[in-house]
Amino acid sequence: MNFNLTEEHMMIRDAARDFARTELLPGVIERDNKQEFPNELVRKMGELGFMGIMVDPKYGGSGMDTISYVLIMEELSKIDASASVIVSVNNSLVCYGLEAFGTEEQKQKYLTKLATGEQVGAFCLSEPEAGSDATSQKTTAIDMGDHYVINGTKNWITSGGRADVYLVIAQTDREKGHKGINAFIVERGTPGFDIGPKEDKLGIRGSDTHTLQFNDVKVPKENRIGEDGFGFKFAMKTLSGGRIGIAAQALGIASGAYELALKYSKERKAFGTEICNHQAIAFKLADMHTEITAARHLVMEAACKKDAKENYDMASAMAKLYASKVAMEVTVEAVQVHGGNGFVKEYHVERLMRDAKITQIYEGTSEIQKIVISRGVLRD
Ligand SMILES: Cc1cc2nc3c(=O)[nH]c(=O)nc-3n(C[C@H](O)[C@H](O)[C@H](O)COP(=O)(O)OP(=O)(O)OC[C@H]3O[C@@H](n4cnc5c(N)ncnc54)[C@H](O)[C@@H]3O)c2cc1C
Repeated sequence: MNFNLTEEHMMIRDAARDFARTELLPGVIERDNKQEFPNELVRKMGELGFMGIMVDPKYGGSGMDTISYVLIMEELSKIDASASVIVSVNNSLVCYGLEAFGTEEQKQKYLTKLATGEQVGAFCLSEPEAGSDATSQKTTAIDMGDHYVINGTKNWITSGGRADVYLVIAQTDREKGHKGINAFIVERGTPGFDIGPKEDKLGIRGSDTHTLQFNDVKVPKENRIGEDGFGFKFAMKTLSGGRIGIAAQALGIASGAYELALKYSKERKAFGTEICNHQAIAFKLADMHTEITAARHLVMEAACKKDAKENYDMASAMAKLYASKVAMEVTVEAVQVHGGNGFVKEYHVERLMRDAKITQIYEGTSEIQKIVISRGVLRD
């Protein structure tokens, strides 16, 4: 597999890096403290084409490949993983889901605004009793002829309080099990659709996570995505690509922490020399660099497979499993390299350590990734 970046890839990566340093960095600590959604920054990311990176330009997207997507995700996540999860959900769950499986009318009506960042999307699969076991959907969508009526609760929804368009998974026919599940497009403001309070989180605090309530929410039939019963497959297919985005987010968190640790180790002196001259610190940097490089290969492999239209389910699961583990390990060590300074907000590494944890949880926990990988290994 050839991981050499093209000139265009390098330009895209540099544009994302510049944006992260000049626009995301200045307010990142304050947004984390206040749990503030970066509204204005999302608008700017839309202008730069980051909200619809892989979407066909005819639907308002940037028409780039998955490699470009992971490069952008890595650069944004080095600085602000809260901003990058908004980008990731909008791109790989919402825009991809609509572009790959939506009707032409759905694409014209919704995708065109989501891909430009004019609107923000949310993906609603999880429920209080259906997390890892996503087949246990309690939310129902009853077929009423020309419309469906949705009832139930979704929780942990990223951009839940801010989104304009929600892709909602619900059970239509319980007897058919996961083959009786559908996916729907629900607009913000639809009567009976209520947004609950915001979660007070450990990390990615600048992102917006809410519980959503659906009480007799009428959704027109044309808002169902795919054939009747396609909803579970829809969720699994979109999540498989989503995991590449989260793997890239984890990679970015790790590399952001590593870059800070490397710089600090060359500046901070102890026992008459820069701390990087102590082998215990130098070895930490060696381990970080090695692990990050290995994670980057897995992320790039998954992205390349997706671009080559090969099956990438196992590759994306491996990339997410490994990159999220590396993000945890590297951020903990980056705090250690910073000593006491690592424990305060000003030096950024404590936030990166808190942000890293979510990459082992959402879009399938590490345990779920191992189920996907082990099934693949045993099948081959
Ligand atoms: C900040 C945040 C943002 C999120 N954003 C979204 C979103 O936008 N949309 C959305 O739909 N969801 C979202 N989620 C939900 C997320 O995907 C779920 O939290 C995740 O899938 C785990 O589900 P759960 O929390 O119910 O944990 P559980 O499924 O209850 O799991 C608890 C523990 O048991 C383990 N476990 C469960 N089953 C097995 C098994 N078979 N074998 C081994 N171990 C197992 C898990 O790995 C985990 O360690 C978000 C969550 C958070 C915290």
